[in-house]
Amino acid sequence: MNRQQEFVLRTLEERDIRFVRLWFTDVLGFLKSVAVAPAELEGAFNEGIGFDGSAIEGFSRVYESDMVARPDPATFQVLPWRTPDQNHYSARMFCDIAMPDGSPSWADPRHVLRRTLARASEAGFTCYVHPEMEFFLLKGLPADGSEPIPADNGGFFDQTSHEMATHFRRLAIESLEAMGISVEFSHHEGAPGQQEIDLRYADALTMADNVMTFRYLIKEVAITQGVRASFMPKPFTDQPGSGMHTHVSLFEGDRNAFYDAEDPYQLSDIGKAFVAGLLKHAREISGVTNQWVNSYKRLIVGGEAPTAVCWGHANRSALVRVPMYSPGKSSSRRVEIRTLDSACNPYLAFAVILAAGLKGVEKGYELPPAAEDDVWSLTDRERRAAGYDNLPQNLGEALTEMENSELLPEVLGEHVYDFFLRNKRTEWDAYRRSVTPYELRTLLPVL
Ligand code: GLU
Ligand code: MG
Ligand code: MG
Repeated sequence: MNRQQEFVLRTLEERDIRFVRLWFTDVLGFLKSVAVAPAELEGAFNEGIGFDGSAIEGFSRVYESDMVARPDPATFQVLPWRTPDQNHYSARMFCDIAMPDGSPSWADPRHVLRRTLARASEAGFTCYVHPEMEFFLLKGLPADGSEPIPADNGGFFDQTSHEMATHFRRLAIESLEAMGISVEFSHHEGAPGQQEIDLRYADALTMADNVMTFRYLIKEVAITQGVRASFMPKPFTDQPGSGMHTHVSLFEGDRNAFYDAEDPYQLSDIGKAFVAGLLKHAREISGVTNQWVNSYKRLIVGGEAPTAVCWGHANRSALVRVPMYSPGKSSSRRVEIRTLDSACNPYLAFAVILAAGLKGVEKGYELPPAAEDDVWSLTDRERRAAGYDNLPQNLGEALTEMENSELLPEVLGEHVYDFFLRNKRTEWDAYRRSVTPYELRTLLPVL
């Protein structure tokens, strides 16, 4: 029993916690939970908790279904609300998933990210990230295909007239901070009902755990306020979607490896090669950073989301933005990746962006010139002339890129790669064969 594990057991006793939820994430990014009694925990630390992996998306084939969840004591947190009888708190811990022989499960997204971070660490880098989480508050989550109703009529940075949203954000931030997740900014986003909460940077594994916790807490807090939260990338045809812009930096010890005082962008050669890697591999990783049929409805001109593979400085139409540098803060030099959406699997998405960037650093890719023009206003021809590739325009195209990728099986491992492709092909085929309200509305009356 190590000190962290002892701390967990002591806290359970001192705070009279009756349930510990063991959390892990399936390949598609859904949070899974199994609750154990505190008395089971010592055993769980020593041997893990066995479960049937065949019931979890992407975890195993039926004939090799035994899996073991091993709680990570570093992630122990008490949930900010009590059980319905108001007397007891529950706690949670994220788990690493192991095979019955104790080796890490090849299906565990947390392991995929750990493996990528270990590669970064062999190259001397620690990776910090912070995401800008966008999502919608809605009056309900209709499942009959009708459009949801936003919970407020606010717009970008609106304050006064939308008491509900402001109150919601305060409660949400209190809950997040109670679970050790620090918040930097929050505001109303551009669309009615749309909110943004930006998390303070953390190492990539902690942040992926934080994103999972965030989505869970936000949904719970919304319910307490009589509304529902959704991280669907693009719920409204005529409103912007919900991105998860992700800021990344690499540190070598205490030194920000992306910072160079001499460069006009204060971006080092390592930073430039990292961005070059992100751009070069952008198309093949987009199936993971934007994993749903609906994700590609967000990546269109006019929604403030990127559509072309390019980078820029102040340019919000670029896929990678190198934000303005705050003088005197070398530690804050970072790059912002604007493709990711709020419904990605954060472990896999962070793994693929890191791997793409690190490939650039390892191979010394050359960074193309910055796109300082507004890429959204260019025609396809002008874009091609400027050398900007388009991002995949739909999930099918993204999957084809992924199938032809050498990087993706290497990062995800063969099992996750195969499962992911098979699962997403099924989603794409189901979507492709369905006749949409758009077709019925525009074609039925005239054909
Ligand atoms: N909602 C936009 C997106 O989908 C981003 C808006 C912003 O710049 O924060 O990426
Ligand atoms: Mg935003
Ligand atoms: Mg942003």
